[in-house]
Amino acid sequence: MKSWLLFLLIAGLVPMKAEARKKPVGPKITIVYPREGQEIPPVSRSFVLGSVIPRARLYVNGQRVRVQPNGAFVSMIPYNSGDFEITCTAVRKRGRSTAKRKVHVGEVLKTTAKDSLLIEARDCKPADTVEVLPGDLLDLSCKGTPGCKAVVRLDSLKQTVTLVEVPGEVGGIYRAGYFIQPKDSLKQTPATFTLTDSSGKSVSAKAPGQVFVLDPRRVRVAETVEDNVKLRYAPNGVFQTTMPPGIRFQVTGRVGEEYKAKLSGSQSVWLLSRQIKMLPQGTPVPKGKIASVLVKEEERWVRCVMPGIFGLPYQTEHLPEASLLRLTLYGARVDTYAIRQPPDTSVVRRLSWRQKEADICEIEAQLAPGQLWGYDAAYNDSGLVFSLRKPPRISEKGSPFRGITICLDPGHSADPGAIGCLGTLEKDVNWQIAQRLLALLREAGAKVVLTRTKDEDVPLYERPKRAFALGADLFLGIHNNAVPDGTDPSKARGFGVYYYTSQSESLARCIHQAYRKFVRVPDDGVIQQNLAVCRPSQYPAVLMESAYIINPREEALLRTSRFQQRCAKAMFEGLKSFLLSQREHGSLR
Ligand SMILES: [Zn+2]
Repeated sequence: MKSWLLFLLIAGLVPMKAEARKKPVGPKITIVYPREGQEIPPVSRSFVLGSVIPRARLYVNGQRVRVQPNGAFVSMIPYNSGDFEITCTAVRKRGRSTAKRKVHVGEVLKTTAKDSLLIEARDCKPADTVEVLPGDLLDLSCKGTPGCKAVVRLDSLKQTVTLVEVPGEVGGIYRAGYFIQPKDSLKQTPATFTLTDSSGKSVSAKAPGQVFVLDPRRVRVAETVEDNVKLRYAPNGVFQTTMPPGIRFQVTGRVGEEYKAKLSGSQSVWLLSRQIKMLPQGTPVPKGKIASVLVKEEERWVRCVMPGIFGLPYQTEHLPEASLLRLTLYGARVDTYAIRQPPDTSVVRRLSWRQKEADICEIEAQLAPGQLWGYDAAYNDSGLVFSLRKPPRISEKGSPFRGITICLDPGHSADPGAIGCLGTLEKDVNWQIAQRLLALLREAGAKVVLTRTKDEDVPLYERPKRAFALGADLFLGIHNNAVPDGTDPSKARGFGVYYYTSQSESLARCIHQAYRKFVRVPDDGVIQQNLAVCRPSQYPAVLMESAYIINPREEALLRTSRFQQRCAKAMFEGLKSFLLSQREHGSLR
């Protein structure tokens, strides 16, 4: 048995050894980014990240790439749209190896050839189903051969509109606007474009989408069915406010998967169709009357209750220069002359209302001087509650952390976040920094709560909810940075401090100052950004990007306990100086 085994071993080893002498094994290449089969947005250049044995010569699509002493590499290479192959070749001594990646790169918009006569129908608008009411402006556009005459026919509306070629980097884009008329047919209509060149030859094509003119006599009302429903200012555009479930809107239009919802006579927003449900025909347009505002003082909150108000959309806004907190309520009318004032000692000095438009009411809270800690607006069983948070009591002497609840949010978990060239996972580094900070904070007497345990998968939107439920006085998101496709990671460097609500700005600046002192990577600045974990207004919230994990130099730093400790120390000192400034100057009480 033994001799058989020995024979097999020798028989197996000998040829292998001989082959190895003939053809040396090449260095192992690990491509970290992009992943196999990844969809890359339309960019002309982007990055490939990975690692190889140090001192190997590396080529990415034939281009020589510098390999860091630890084996990390970053390569910016030109991309072509469509299916695209990345080939990495590494050579060390006489060994050579290759690794490949197949990705798909989005189409970059290019000018149609001037000597052609064609319309690129898939780039014509309407691209999706569009619903409009009489009086709405319909956007029409087509892309094709530049320098032509362009018209569009809306068949069932019996309208022909002339389009104008718009100046820009990409030629041959023609646009027109058409106001839907009350007499326009309610049938669906395609948009047929025709381009005519200088010799009189023409070509026609239909846009992918259809136009529906809605019956203005039929009122449609929808209700939000999810949390965090974004109210966008344009289809797929930016937003400031999110709504809870149970909020009702009058629906007045649609573009593809987004519905247009009327807030007031002068304002509309766009909502995702999957986040709302249409209510039965005949459901009245949501309206409410504010007959009273009741002020209740609680241990940590001042509550302003508007009884009997339900389901109306609202927005909150903090105007720090005016020391004002404003709640704008849509579809509401004030129906009282009296408003009872909070006591002198409150964080709210004065409450007032304003009927801004027939269907927009503003409730304004004049704030006492000092830092606003947090606020909230939500519906409960009695009506709409506009709440202002009293600051936590900061101990007069000794550690300012005593009795303060600090919520740490180590970013990512099931999703690993950004990945460095050496395969360092952002979620692990975030966790390690959070653990170091947790130790410093606990030692200083703070109560520290975390949004996740080590490997627990907690969805992004769940994290602020957990923080609030755990009684967070302050929130700190712990992340490390990356760049999107098309940007060079080797040029992205340093720490960035992110906040969104105005009451978080001073905390962001304190942490930024501490990073400048303790962390020796470039300063990427203080950035106000609408991030999911910075958006909540119930407490000051900051998100820290300590370094760029996709930059090889900074990835190497992030792997060391010394650098992680310095980041934790900077966050600790930043939080401390914020609390000390609150103790000195006094915050709203
Ligand atoms: Zn992250």
